[in-house]
Amino acid sequence: MAEEIINLIRIWEEFASKQTDFKLNPDKSKVEGIAKGVLENEKNHGLKYCPCRMRAAKKDEDLKIVCPCYFKIQNTWKEKGECWCGLFIKK
Ligand code: SF4
Repeated sequence: MAEEIINLIRIWEEFASKQTDFKLNPDKSKVEGIAKGVLENEKNHGLKYCPCRMRAAKKDEDLKIVCPCYFKIQNTWKEKGECWCGLFIKK
């Protein structure tokens, strides 16, 4: 696994370890796939955009989908207990 992917996953693990109601998805292949997508977006579009959603090409709107986003307002959190991509899941 590329070092940048390992580093990003470490950052997510640290972020998630401080949360009381959600954690990083234990499905390592899923997390790695999301990390690759996020890093690809950073390389191509300048910021770590969510790999599961389309950018609006409007900076103010697109900042809302920089990972990690505020996913608790999404239906996927309310209905399935996970963020849009399943990177973070309810404890
Ligand atoms: S939906 Fe999940 S993967 Fe996508 S930006 Fe939000 S936290 Fe990151």
